[in-house]
Amino acid sequence: MSEPLQFAGLPLAIKANPRAKRVLVKLVPGRGLEVVTPRRFDPSLVRPILEEKRAWIERTRDRMVAAGTDLFGAAPELPDVIEYLAWERTVRVDYLDRPGAIRLVENAARWQVAGPLADREPILEKLRAHTVKKAREVLLPWLDRASQQTGMKYSALRVRRQKTRWGSCSSRGTISLNAKLLFLPPRLVDHLLLHELCHTRHMNHSPAYWACVAGFEPDYQRLENEVSRGNRYVPAWFR
Ligand SMILES: [Zn+2]
Repeated sequence: MSEPLQFAGLPLAIKANPRAKRVLVKLVPGRGLEVVTPRRFDPSLVRPILEEKRAWIERTRDRMVAAGTDLFGAAPELPDVIEYLAWERTVRVDYLDRPGAIRLVENAARWQVAGPLADREPILEKLRAHTVKKAREVLLPWLDRASQQTGMKYSALRVRRQKTRWGSCSSRGTISLNAKLLFLPPRLVDHLLLHELCHTRHMNHSPAYWACVAGFEPDYQRLENEVSRGNRYVPAWFR
């Protein structure tokens, strides 16, 4: 693997855009420096252009960093402890630095991840994939229970890691749940499952829909509110 590109201490990405008329240099939160070039552009010209703009780049970088913007796109730290509130489990993670493919071995509440530790992102990716698997194992029987208790049926369950939505329900009754739910307190998961199950009856947020929710959970507004702020339970490496 070649060294990642850098300029002025920032990660640098060069992207060709056929619609670009000229070279565009920008600082992008969470990613660093981005150079957009027209399609037929000699890549050896990028450095001279950046040098020409160095003063502006450094000034903008300093201003953004002072305002608390992450420009370095650094992978989060490897977690030693993972608190899965919905699963009611605290997992301790040990890391073993060794060459070769990354492996995760589960031993009750202790997981061991073995692989090259210098590059954190692939290790985190392994933990994320394992968390999604666990989320499915935990959420499927939970949803079945909620479905039986409420008498509202669904046809299939999908569990994925998503950036924004906690869940959704298709017109065919497929419920999609965000794997992030595994980090939330159980009462919020109960509520989110109820929210999605009521969508099997009403595909909208009409008064009839909310009456369905309220019929099972009178305190639904407070819980809706809490769910909308649920990201604070999710560790940075899984957001
Ligand atoms: Zn909804």
